[in-house]
Formats: sequence, C-alpha cells, structure tokens
Amino acid sequence: MKQDLKNIAVLTSGGDAPGMNACIRAVIRTGIYHGKNMFGVMQGYQGLIDNNIIPMDARSVSNILHMGGTILKTARCLAFKEEAGMELAFKNLQEKEIDGLVVIGGDGTFTGAKRFGEKYNINVIGVPGTIDNDLSGSDFTLGYDTAINTVIEAIDKIRDTADSHDRLFFIEVMGRDSGCIALRTAVASGAEAVLLPERETSLKELITKLKAGASTKKSSSIVIVSEGNKYGGAYDIAKSVKRKFTHYDTKVTILGHLQRGGSPSGFDRILGSRLGYAAVNALIAGESMQMVGLYGNAIKLTSLEDALNTHNYKLESDLLEMTHVLSI
Ligand code: ADP
Repeated sequence: MKQDLKNIAVLTSGGDAPGMNACIRAVIRTGIYHGKNMFGVMQGYQGLIDNNIIPMDARSVSNILHMGGTILKTARCLAFKEEAGMELAFKNLQEKEIDGLVVIGGDGTFTGAKRFGEKYNINVIGVPGTIDNDLSGSDFTLGYDTAINTVIEAIDKIRDTADSHDRLFFIEVMGRDSGCIALRTAVASGAEAVLLPERETSLKELITKLKAGASTKKSSSIVIVSEGNKYGGAYDIAKSVKRKFTHYDTKVTILGHLQRGGSPSGFDRILGSRLGYAAVNALIAGESMQMVGLYGNAIKLTSLEDALNTHNYKLESDLLEMTHVLSI
C-alpha cells in the first residue's frame, strides 16, 4: 500500500446519519494538522464521477459538529457500480493527485469502496456511518445512538396518549435487515413486544403476550415493529392482531425519516470525532481497505471484507429475552 500520502479526500455516501458532520470535521482537521492537503467530495460517489471535489481547510468545517445530515451531501449513485463509472472516478482523483480516500457510509458504500480499492492504486479507509448498526467490527455505527434517542422520545409521547385511551400501538421503526434500533428502543421504552427481521415471532406468541398484559390490567401496550419483519409492515401486523384482539383500540405509527435527522447525540459527536481522527491516522500509517470501528472502548481496524460479513455481526439477543421479562 502507498506510504506518505499527500492529498486525502473524504465523502459521505448512502443513507445520511447524524454524526457524519462531526466525522468530516475530524477528518479534515486531522489531515491538516499532519500537513496533508484535504478535499471534500460532494454527493458521495457521484461527486467522484462528476469531479465535484473541492479543497477544504480547517475553517471549511467550522460550526458543523452539532449538525445532523452531511455538509458534503450524499447520494445513491448507480454509475459507480459500473466499471466505466469507477474508472472515471479514479481519473478525477488522479488529476488532483489524491492518494487517500475516507468513505463514510453503510454496507453499500463499503461494497463500492472495497471494489474500488482492489482495482485502483488508492488507499481507502471506511468509517461506519449508518443508523442501522449492521456492520461487523464496530459495536456502534455513527448515527445509531442518535436514532435510538429520537425513537425513544417519540415513543414516550405515544405512550402518554396510549395510556390515556387504553390503546394498543404498533410503532414501525427503521431497520429493513437489522433489528438493532427496534431492540434497543424496546428496552428503553418498556415496549410489550418487539418484532425483528432476525427472529421469528409467531402471531400466536404475540397475542398471548398482549392478552396476558390486558388480563393483569395493563392500560396500554406498545409493540415495536422493525420494518423488515416477516409479517410485512406495522399496518399488516396490526390488522392481523386486531382480528383476534377485537376489544383493544389499535393504532399504528410509522416513524419514518424523522429517525435519520436531528442534532447528533453527545455519543455520536464523540464517536464521529474519534473515527474521523482514526481514519486519517490509519491512512498516514499506510493502511488501506480497512474500516475504523469502536470495539469495547477502543478503536480497532477491521478489513472491509470482514466488516461486510454479516455472519460476524451479532444481535444483542439477551436484550430480547429481557424485554419479554421486564414487560410482564
Ligand atoms: P449504504 O452505504 O447506506 O448501505 P447504499 O446501499 O445505497 O447505502 O450504497 C451507497 C452507494 O454505494 C451506492 O449508491 C453505490 O454508489 C455504491 N455501491 C453500492 N453497492 C456497490 C457495488 N456493488 N459496487 C460499487 N458501488 C456500490
């Protein structure tokens, strides 16, 4: 891998996540501190193809640490999946003599980064930036903690109204392939049940649980539904339950995109700063094709290949059993 890099670029790609700005700030300032020329790529891989690559200095990232979203914008770019798109992206980087690239994003972004780094002579480091927490090698991905806090705040409000009206609420949260947000928010909001893409919960099991609560005078029940569970969305599951559980007033709330937005939590600001700082230090140390992650309370490098291997990633299944016990 290349040593002694001079010019480093950073981009954000895929779904935006709170804390990306904190990370961009850390990348730019760490690079400048070490005497590197720093660049920001607009709109993810699309900006590489369109040559939308701008020089950045320490002041370019002033006052962004607390902001949600990403100042570099993000995009889903199909052209980067094609050889021609990748070649053009590399040509644009070469013209500016950029020899190091930090990509902040989720599994799609890493898949692209891996292909790009394997084919072309450029050092690539990934930062796990996704609210889904579905990458291996980092206990937490950037934005996950903020998203959890946002969902908890919303559920607290729903619980007030559910309680006042003796209602059963189905709340759909993000996580098509990963039940992490659903599971953690279920614990923190005292949900009566949670449906995840990774685990099968039968309708019968769910109804037994809800009936047990009703018979012990629970005034409201909340079921958290991860959008990727096997019954479909929250509306589908609410309809099926309503058929067997007629006396309850059943409501559905889909939290949707509000889960992505908002000012990053303290945790995500610190995580973004640590990961951005570590990403540039890894590039300076001559590393490539690695993801920087938080493991325990230490920064760890994991190959992009291992980060993408979902077999390495584990759902906190002890929390599932605990949710069941604590909501009797
Ligand atoms: P996320 O990174 O949040 O998972 P996506 O799955 O949309 O988001 O991926 C982000 C971008 O990564 C895509 O728009 C595309 O440009 C790039 N990408 C995804 N898969 C590949 C691939 N197989 N080859 C090259 N680029 C890819």
